Amino acid sequence: MNRETYAVHGATAVITLDNPPVNGMGHAMRQEVAGHLDTAWADPAVSAIVIIGAGKLFCGGADIKAFNTPASRAEPSSRTLVARIEASAKPVIAAVHGSALGLGLEFAMGCHYRIARRGAKLALPEVKLGLLPGGGGTQRLPRLVGVEAAATMIVEGESVDADRALALGLVDEVIDGELLPAALAFADRLAGGVAAAREHPVVSRRAVRPPQDPGFFAAQRQRIAASRRGQPAPLECLACIEAALTMPFDEGLKFERERFDILVNGTESKAMRHLFLAERAAAKIDGLPADTAVATIDRVAIIGAGTMGGGIAMSFASAGIPVTLVEAKPEALQRGLATIRKNYEATAAKGRLSAAEAEARIARIEGALDLERVGDADLVIEAVFEDMAVKQELFTRLDALCKPSAVLATNTSRLDVDEIARTTRRPASVIGLHFFSPANVMRLVEVVRGAASSPSTVASSMNVVRRIGKLPVLVGVCDGFVGNRMVAQYAREAEFLLEEGATPGQVDGALKKFGLAMGRFAMADLAGLDIGWAGRKRMAATRPAHLRYSKVADRICELGRLGQKTGAGFYRYEAGSRSPVPDPVVHELIEQCARESGIERREISDAEIVERTIYALVNEGAKILEEGIAQRASDIDLIYVNGYGFPAWRGGPMFYADTVGLAKVCERIREFERRHGEFWKPAPLLVRLAESGKTFAKPE
Ligand code: NAD
Repeated sequence: MNRETYAVHGATAVITLDNPPVNGMGHAMRQEVAGHLDTAWADPAVSAIVIIGAGKLFCGGADIKAFNTPASRAEPSSRTLVARIEASAKPVIAAVHGSALGLGLEFAMGCHYRIARRGAKLALPEVKLGLLPGGGGTQRLPRLVGVEAAATMIVEGESVDADRALALGLVDEVIDGELLPAALAFADRLAGGVAAAREHPVVSRRAVRPPQDPGFFAAQRQRIAASRRGQPAPLECLACIEAALTMPFDEGLKFERERFDILVNGTESKAMRHLFLAERAAAKIDGLPADTAVATIDRVAIIGAGTMGGGIAMSFASAGIPVTLVEAKPEALQRGLATIRKNYEATAAKGRLSAAEAEARIARIEGALDLERVGDADLVIEAVFEDMAVKQELFTRLDALCKPSAVLATNTSRLDVDEIARTTRRPASVIGLHFFSPANVMRLVEVVRGAASSPSTVASSMNVVRRIGKLPVLVGVCDGFVGNRMVAQYAREAEFLLEEGATPGQVDGALKKFGLAMGRFAMADLAGLDIGWAGRKRMAATRPAHLRYSKVADRICELGRLGQKTGAGFYRYEAGSRSPVPDPVVHELIEQCARESGIERREISDAEIVERTIYALVNEGAKILEEGIAQRASDIDLIYVNGYGFPAWRGGPMFYADTVGLAKVCERIREFERRHGEFWKPAPLLVRLAESGKTFAKPE
């Protein structure tokens, strides 16, 4: 680093953290800071030290890619550096602007004083990566803010702003103007003996206030066990905070270190770090010229005010982008707008949005019955019925009405985007934007690149999805794109397992134990069984006769059981309740189907349920990768975690397969092929990786 990172102003040395883009605390920077500290200590003219960040923030934390590498341990380690700062005979002041995250905040807590610019954000978000703050944060934060506030910040990973940090005692002063002069003035006041009235400046020497409620830790443990199933990190975070209360500082620090080492080497944390890096990788698009133009999108039109159209409209309105919501039928428009209003008002009633902001968002959505109103839209998203003829007719009209620069998107779940694009004279401007339901809540959007979609259409679409706070993942055209194409294989196996001896409750139970937010059959009941049924009827004529087919779902639909909305599906539902109740009628129907197909029912283990359903996802995922429908395995993982309730702590289906070992996964799939036939033919990519000892994450 050749930038000016050490300077002396009067009697104060200023050390600048400068490691773009986020002043990450990698080994080189730790070494540099340690060197500057030595210089400041050796200089008799220096009586205080200020540490400040260059650029937009103080420090974004450790280098995530360096975990589990020797660089993360190399001296001076973060722990050594923080300890040396704390032991400094000359007072050290952290001057925080932008953010101090993770190790950045731990570093600041090692300093004797902290001042922060108004609006700065302070957080220990390690738990979100399956970790705990391992640089003394779990021991110092409770000493500064008490165990309750420390638990909110460490166990939940919640941030506080500078004002809240001041109220909690985490910072000593909030600054409105220039930070460096304020920090220098603070240092001068210290020299003059006018330090802020406070406890011991060395945080580790302070005592920890016990929680007001003596049952605090027990209650927290119970809450975490119930709400964060399968995740060791939140409980370990809490245990460390408790250690801060019950152990002397040095022992607490040792405890923190042991627990950190266990977490950092565990699969859960590796899975969560994988997803963190996957989000950054997903933004990179293969083959896009560097000078690709990104369209400015100031106004959006959405066609169809049904379930999806309404939710999509809310997503844009909430991000400040005005929307014209076009419907064919006046009553559907009224219903759609009323639902939007109800949703916003409910959020405001819960206190998560001010009434004024709710009204402002509602006002950004303008209803219309006249398609000509799309004329001034920069982006049009179609969310009408899932019917090719309806969509094609609509796109022909949009082609005539939209301005030449507009991006034309379809929210189809599985129809061929290229076929839709061909009905226009501008297929280069057409793309799929596959939102998930409820669209105002779900973060995932599959951006479906058509054969003709131009680089600018792709880049503009990825960009606008990010702008509305969602996660765009680029996929290619095929039946069901990535998510729904994979889920079809998983659903098939789940239904076969019913015929072979399981019940819907057993399948769902095993999948939930594995970590999925919902089991296959409860999910199907929630989404409604009619769409799948209609699809199967359409495909019936072309279905290869020699392949096994489960009639269970069709038979259930024939009884008028279309899921939760009809009070029954794979389960039954008490009036007004959403909890699935096992239904003997369904169990009998399953046994009947098995008899008709000559299937002998047997005991099915939870392990088989998980392998059959999850490996079905993995095998299809491998085919999708090989066909180039997804750019990388981690994109598939993002889709499954953010769109299908796959547990983040397992990293997604492809990462999960890597952790099991692809040789083992492949061997099981071959066994299923021998037993269950050609559905289970292993994907060539999976075979290649398994045979060469590679992984989806590192296929080369
Ligand atoms: P929906 O039936 O709730 O809404 C469709 C709306 O479009 C209706 O209000 C209808 O009146 C209106 N409409 C039909 N033709 C129109 C036209 N020519 N002009 C204007 N309005 C018209 O359907 P939905 O569940 O919102 O699904 C919409 C699209 O989104 C479908 O392509 C579907 O496959 C896709 N999708 C649905 C989900 C889901 O979970 N529901 C998820 C992802 C994608």
